[in-house]
Amino acid sequence: MSGLLKDVEKDGIVKWEDVMASKGCPSSSRAEKGPVAVIECLQEIPCNPCETGCPFGAISVGDRITNLPVLNEEKCRGCGNCVPVCPGLAIFIEDLSGSGDEAKVTLPYEYLPLPERGAVVKATDRAGREICDATVVDVRKPAAFNKTAVITISVPKEFVHEARGIAFLR
Ligand code: SF4
Ligand code: SF4
Repeated sequence: MSGLLKDVEKDGIVKWEDVMASKGCPSSSRAEKGPVAVIECLQEIPCNPCETGCPFGAISVGDRITNLPVLNEEKCRGCGNCVPVCPGLAIFIEDLSGSGDEAKVTLPYEYLPLPERGAVVKATDRAGREICDATVVDVRKPAAFNKTAVITISVPKEFVHEARGIAFLR
């Protein structure tokens, strides 16, 4: 068992500290330059669609298919193509390049109905707990992955590493 996996298995929920310690995480300053993938894949499972799904060669798994994915943050353009291809829903895009107090998080979303652009929703953390208000700034439905939408939300910058889902306001 890898050290990364041990913490996840305590309660089944990925922790940001574990993500930061992995090679799928960009450096702390990279997202300030523009959108970049954050790969929260900490379990050594046989899987590599992220590698083949990145058109810029920014993710490598390598010959041993149970390797954890490695992000090349310089090659990553933050396009989000890897988000819907990951069967584990483990890839997000963070963008801290805005000058204001808000950051953007792009996430996979497999529920209906889809939110509208401009909708105010609640951002949820990895455990599904509501953590802050969020505004939906983009909704994409890639034709090749019609069961997984790609949603971009705007959240206060302090929540950028924790906002990993959305819930509609009730
Ligand atoms: S966001 Fe785009 S460029 Fe970056 S790793 Fe994903 S697919 Fe590759
Ligand atoms: S596609 Fe997702 S689950 Fe599979 S190796 Fe890549 S990040 Fe991990």
